[in-house]
Amino acid sequence: METNQQEHVELLIIGSGPAGYTAAIYAARANLKPVLYQGIQPGGQLTITTEVENYPGYPEGIQGPEMMVDFEKQATRMGADIRFGLATSVDFSSKPFKVTIDESKLITADAVIIATGASAKWLGMPSEQRLNGSGVSACAVCDGFFFRGKEVAIVGAGDTAAEEALYLSKMCTNVHMIVRRHEMRASKVMQDRVLKTSNIIVYWNTETQEVLGENKVEAVRLLNTAKQEETTVPVSAFFVAIGHQPNSDIFKNYVEMDEQGYIVTVPGTSRTNIEGVFACGDVQDKIYRQAVTAAGSGCIAALDAERYLSALGH
Ligand code: NDP
Repeated sequence: METNQQEHVELLIIGSGPAGYTAAIYAARANLKPVLYQGIQPGGQLTITTEVENYPGYPEGIQGPEMMVDFEKQATRMGADIRFGLATSVDFSSKPFKVTIDESKLITADAVIIATGASAKWLGMPSEQRLNGSGVSACAVCDGFFFRGKEVAIVGAGDTAAEEALYLSKMCTNVHMIVRRHEMRASKVMQDRVLKTSNIIVYWNTETQEVLGENKVEAVRLLNTAKQEETTVPVSAFFVAIGHQPNSDIFKNYVEMDEQGYIVTVPGTSRTNIEGVFACGDVQDKIYRQAVTAAGSGCIAALDAERYLSALGH
């Protein structure tokens, strides 16, 4: 690795979703002079959603990208140093911790907060990409409300898909649930709930061929792979719930993770297996994944980091 610059910081925050920015706000107010690197998608997953109506404090709702600009402004106003750049590798084997930005700049840090989030997995169809934000969504809890009283489809068969299908069934006329195999991966109790819900229609052995619609979702074209039969189902929204990928690859040689790559934190804290490295937000949360829970965990991480640094005499 070639490095052409080096800098030491007290607290480095990696990631710029609600978790990272909230950690930056708290850390800056605690005078820890945090430096935050935003990563490849400044603002994180909320920048690819439309309206956010469930974040407290915005009584009229707010556009996701706008909300993240507000978070960034608040962190900057408190004195956080927000920078564009991607953490490309780390070395947590000794202190101070080493983090390389954009494969060229070396940052050494006394404490690190990992807030790199997760990315939703997509099927990869061009029509899915084209209608993203116009009825195609990877978050039923965020966007389901906009389709109340409508027909919707959801693809996936894990616990997330089951949970989201149940959530949608309470507000939509019918939920067309597309399952690629003859069985679901979701836990038995979730499957039972799905199968007992009269307005969830399960399509077994079914793949999505295309999402149809000019400027908004109007239907999905499905293929039953067992019977080789095609059907078109009119729907107003298409939810993708086939899993998330935590953005944790660069930490894997050092930080303890579960089998899916989610960072393991000590319950009720943001502490990882490495003293002085903290994790918050979706990179360590596969269950709740909400902006407000990510922000809350960012606050926890900043408070944990502050305690750690002050014990070191900072
Ligand atoms: P999972 O990886 O468990 O499930 C993904 C689902 O998407 C699978 O059914 C899979 O099908 C399907 N899928 C994957 N790729 C495609 C594709 N290209 N086309 C169609 N279908 C596809 O992800 P989840 O997000 O559901 O869950 C992640 C983890 O979080 C799990 O451990 C889960 O138990 C946990 N979780 C727990 C909750 C709770 O306890 N309340 C709530 C939510 C999640 P296939 O089965 O054929 O591979």
